Amino acid sequence: MVDKISSLNKTFHNKKGVFFDMDGVLYDSMGYHAEAWSSAFSHFGIDFPPVMVYHNEGRTASATINLVFQENVQRNATDVEVEQIYSRKTEIISEYPDAIPFKSAKSLMENLKKQGFAIWVVTGSSQDKFLEALLRDFKGLISSDRIITGKDVTHGKPHPEPYLRALDKSGLKADQVVVIENAPLGIQSAKAAGIYTVAVNTGILDDHFLWEAGADVVIDDLKDLELEFN
Ligand code: MG
Repeated sequence: MVDKISSLNKTFHNKKGVFFDMDGVLYDSMGYHAEAWSSAFSHFGIDFPPVMVYHNEGRTASATINLVFQENVQRNATDVEVEQIYSRKTEIISEYPDAIPFKSAKSLMENLKKQGFAIWVVTGSSQDKFLEALLRDFKGLISSDRIITGKDVTHGKPHPEPYLRALDKSGLKADQVVVIENAPLGIQSAKAAGIYTVAVNTGILDDHFLWEAGADVVIDDLKDLELEFN
């Protein structure tokens, strides 16, 4: 059994940057995404329960839609189908209240910033509404040139490309960085890029899915990482 406290105390040792995932790490937003994806698919007669959204979190929208089509009708979705389902999902989620940033994420980021860490966000999302909110809610902590979105990559998570892109743009080496992720596919992506990965389980999946994806440590709340700064 991993000694959680001692491994957390070494998390940021000799590191220079922290790459944060967005949904489920910075924002308590996954419940909205799960409901919105599930009802968008059901609008087109396809069953995709909320728990499956958590298992597939991190994929780009088109990859998610194609995967669900492959499972249900054994083919990829057409461009028109991708557009229709994604528009429906976007429409549904825009009716929900704005997602609330996790207090512990903001406080951790403030501490990291004070200590001189480079802070990046690596998300599969490409919706302007959320990216604008990110810059507003984490003002002074996150800048627009330090965000990798779904639009910046050919292959979304679980492919390593999003995290490799962040390494490349930041000029940091894999062993100088910590990734903070909440989703199995995001963890796989970061680990495939060779980066130490903290999983924060803010969702409905059991911890073992995060360990199996390769997480180096699994915690319940980002405030556990503040141990290092006290
Ligand atoms: Mg996430």
